[in-house]
Amino acid sequence: MSKKFFIGANWKLNLTKEDIAPFFSQLGPCASNNSTLIIFPQMPLLSEVGRFHETHHIEMGSQNSSATAQGAFTGESSPKTLKSIGASWTLVGHSERRSIFGDTDESCKKKFELALDGVLNPILCVGEEKKIREQGFEAVKKFLEGQLNPLAEILNTHPFFQGKVNAPLVVAYEPVWAIGTGLTPTLPEIEETLSWIRSFISSKMTTPETVELFLMYGGSVNRENSKDFLSLPSCHGLLIGGASLKALDLREIFHTSTLLSGH
Ligand code: PEP
Repeated sequence: MSKKFFIGANWKLNLTKEDIAPFFSQLGPCASNNSTLIIFPQMPLLSEVGRFHETHHIEMGSQNSSATAQGAFTGESSPKTLKSIGASWTLVGHSERRSIFGDTDESCKKKFELALDGVLNPILCVGEEKKIREQGFEAVKKFLEGQLNPLAEILNTHPFFQGKVNAPLVVAYEPVWAIGTGLTPTLPEIEETLSWIRSFISSKMTTPETVELFLMYGGSVNRENSKDFLSLPSCHGLLIGGASLKALDLREIFHTSTLLSGH
């Protein structure tokens, strides 16, 4: 049986224009029927990365996008403009956006909706802090409910999903305490959380058949542990920070996903 995977490379505030061609020459082509590699570079590098879109079979996304469509919002980038320079995805609510730049569940909801209006595929990032995980799974669920509730509202109302069957929707579960720390939840903890996210979203939707939900795991993924995460029944992808800056590691992780995808 085949399984579909999304592998996201979140480059954060790293790499410059000069690094891009050598990176793609090491990465090599990433064609696959069932696995999609999405690169999230700094916004000014989107066009440069876009030069490798066809040759390397990659897609591009932004690490953030604006909550308003246009106007006097210095420093922002709108989904429509990002789309016009080649992005087809955007991250919404990455934990660094939430903790450093003040993104809230409310602003994430606006960003998510506007991304859909601008025809970008938004990936909502959710995840708890260590102190919540330490209180047990009930506390984790309660916390994640707060981050997922705005999404459920959008799924039931936004025209993007109305009348659709299996419109793809990606949610990334990234425990804050696992990002860039070398720590990860146990495999059963990840599976339990992903599986709960799936049933929570589905329980909130009036017509669950409109979306096909893909759940990513993110947090200290590397070439050694990626196969274990991708083998979890509920895991349909990985969001990778540090390891995605090493082209050879990213290539290995992507190829692992293609092997596990059955193609
Ligand atoms: C991330 O930034 O989304 C991330 C998961 O980072 P890292 O892989 O470095 O933990």
